[in-house]
Amino acid sequence: MNLPNLKEAKIRTNKEVAIKEALNLKSDKFKGQKFYLKTYGCQMNVHDSEEIKGILTNLSFSETTDLNEADIIVLNTCAIRENAHDKVFGFLGRIKHLKRNKPDLIVCVGGCMAQENSVANLLKEKYPFVNIVFGTHNINELGTMILNASSNQDIEVYSIEGDVYENIDYKRDSKYSAWVNIMYGCDKFCTYCIVPYTRGKQRSRKMPDILKEVQTLKDEGYQEITLLGQNVNAYGKDLAENYDFATLLEEAARINIPRIRFVTSHPWDFTDEMINVIAKYPNIMPYIHLPLQSGSSKILKLMGRRYTKEDYLKLYQKIKETIPGCSITTDIIVGFPNETEEDFKETLDVVNTCAFDGAYTFIYSPREGTPAALIKDNISKEVKEARLQTLNKLVNSYSLKHNKEYVNKIVKVLVTSPSEKGENKVCGYTETMKLVNITGASNDIGKIIDVKITSAKSFSLDGEKEIFANIS
Ligand code: SF4
Repeated sequence: MNLPNLKEAKIRTNKEVAIKEALNLKSDKFKGQKFYLKTYGCQMNVHDSEEIKGILTNLSFSETTDLNEADIIVLNTCAIRENAHDKVFGFLGRIKHLKRNKPDLIVCVGGCMAQENSVANLLKEKYPFVNIVFGTHNINELGTMILNASSNQDIEVYSIEGDVYENIDYKRDSKYSAWVNIMYGCDKFCTYCIVPYTRGKQRSRKMPDILKEVQTLKDEGYQEITLLGQNVNAYGKDLAENYDFATLLEEAARINIPRIRFVTSHPWDFTDEMINVIAKYPNIMPYIHLPLQSGSSKILKLMGRRYTKEDYLKLYQKIKETIPGCSITTDIIVGFPNETEEDFKETLDVVNTCAFDGAYTFIYSPREGTPAALIKDNISKEVKEARLQTLNKLVNSYSLKHNKEYVNKIVKVLVTSPSEKGENKVCGYTETMKLVNITGASNDIGKIIDVKITSAKSFSLDGEKEIFANIS
């Protein structure tokens, strides 16, 4: 049996005390001042930013979308891809300029990128105007750090993840659709992925705490919740209690919130029980994001994904057979080291077999500190780009084909916001997670309405609010 290292245990205890003391800290020190928050990366970061907004609001800051108005700027960063780093450093260049004219401006850099040692060192050496650097394991401490901010750079990035904290004061972006974190971190250690290093090992929340949050959101009138985690279907595996994702999903569905979604799933952890629960409850939406990453079993093995091409196809078929009309999207990486033309053709083969509703496609780039970064990146940039282009063309053709099947149909859409596609338009999502731009529904934000689909593109649908005549 491994006994905990005493030094680590002490750091963990100090960290937990510091975070608990800082949790939901309130102050009016910054009344009348404004915050500008920029979020990079995935839904997990978007939800973390809702926590950061809660912290800033508790310190009496109000939000601005104008950088020049800000008294404090917070960058919540992402470490998944190389260009995410470049974007942050590019933006810091702009902030440096601003700070020259506004020396009291507080600049904070947090999130996954800040969690990387090399980045914290770089910020210290080359970006001394950054006041506060915090990691993913001490977001809760940000309030204390801001209250104590000085002209000296304060870097507080814990390498050891801690407990799961409850009763966080989120300031949610939407009043209709909410994220609900069910777990933190990931234990899968796919060889290309930085997440287990930046977010730590898997820590699931207790099921009663999650269900209490779902119930509160229902009572507040939320129409939709999305259960959130890096690998939601591994939920509970780290807990002593006998919790699993299928049970959590079923219990959440019974609370009767109109729409329940979840993201993201790992094919290796997808069980028959989960598929059956999704099929059984009409308020669990028929939409699954099921990352493939590669169609070649050889590459999947190098990626440490724990399934083969055949396993994936079998799972895909089972989902389609058990949940009629379920839409499935995926993630695919091209140009992983040693990916041959044959391997790439296997990926195209899976795309042709599954005819995905959509796919997020990426060119592989090594992340420092991951096992894959030690494998020679032996696929040229030109080959990677050509493969991405071929893949995107194929993926988009299937997206368009699926979307065209909606034309002239009436579908239920949760209207979430004004649309960018025209002044009198709003937009929202179908049960199958298709984006719809709608006319005639300006007063329906926050409602689930019937929409007649009038036309289809690869990435969205157009529709009109359907008004049924009263039949007497
Ligand atoms: S499942 Fe793999 S790709 Fe997903 S977060 Fe965990 S390590 Fe990363």
